[in-house]
Amino acid sequence: MAVLQLEPAAGGHVDRCCRLSSRDQQVSLQFISLGSGSNGNATLVRVADTLLLIDAGFSAKALCDRMQSVGVSADDLTAILISHEHSDHVKGVSVLARKYNIPVWLTRGTFKRLKDPKLPEVEFIHPHGSFCLGDAKVSPFPIPHDAAEPCQFVVSDGSRRFAVATDMGFVTPYVREQLSGIDALLLESNYDGDMLKNGSYPYALRGRIDGRYGHLSNEQAADFARSLEHSGLQRLYLGHLSGNNNTPDCAYATVADRLQRGGDDLHVLQRTRVGEWFEVA
Ligand SMILES: [Zn+2]
Ligand SMILES: [Zn+2]
Repeated sequence: MAVLQLEPAAGGHVDRCCRLSSRDQQVSLQFISLGSGSNGNATLVRVADTLLLIDAGFSAKALCDRMQSVGVSADDLTAILISHEHSDHVKGVSVLARKYNIPVWLTRGTFKRLKDPKLPEVEFIHPHGSFCLGDAKVSPFPIPHDAAEPCQFVVSDGSRRFAVATDMGFVTPYVREQLSGIDALLLESNYDGDMLKNGSYPYALRGRIDGRYGHLSNEQAADFARSLEHSGLQRLYLGHLSGNNNTPDCAYATVADRLQRGGDDLHVLQRTRVGEWFEVA
């Protein structure tokens, strides 16, 4: 009997069908951080009627409370996208997905490392394969990070694009290519080099953080943001800040200085607080 092959072939690329192409009306692209930092990460992205949660790094209750505070219910979620298995990205995913029967999209490698893999519906993604979820086009891209099969995401409404780019030891040429011309970006600015070097972390842990599979420093974020800058970049958010080796003022100052950008265009996300909705124009 013939079996319909739904999995992308190795190195292949699957574009699942998308409602976008059949829509004439203008769709909108909005996002909001529900918290960003070394102790928890979650971002909501809305494209017309489609609502996605990228990462679920807080307890299910905290996620529900934070969603409610910004006018959203977990019942409204179309899907949860998971970048990788570290607890600051998956803490609440299984409980939330089970309670509200939400499909979870993640790589096979990430799924295998979940401590609580009982999910109501799992969709495996290929880190190079774009797919559509309702009104949103999602383009994952692999990131260099000490996890099984990590990736981050560009979400598009068909014309505008927003990306989350955190948990990267360095910026690969492919990441740079995927983010070129991006309209809005949540970029990792995890640590200040001097604070990490002079802080209390043991040598091995420091090496993990500033290694090729760790996190981006303020300086790396600034250099990358400068190389990426273009007139269409409407909003740059710095996120995934360390609580021990960084401060919002330090991250902001380092990036604003190298970028010659500030004011309304550059924001630092809070580790413990929700942000504000931003609509990509
Ligand atoms: Zn991580
Ligand atoms: Zn993380």
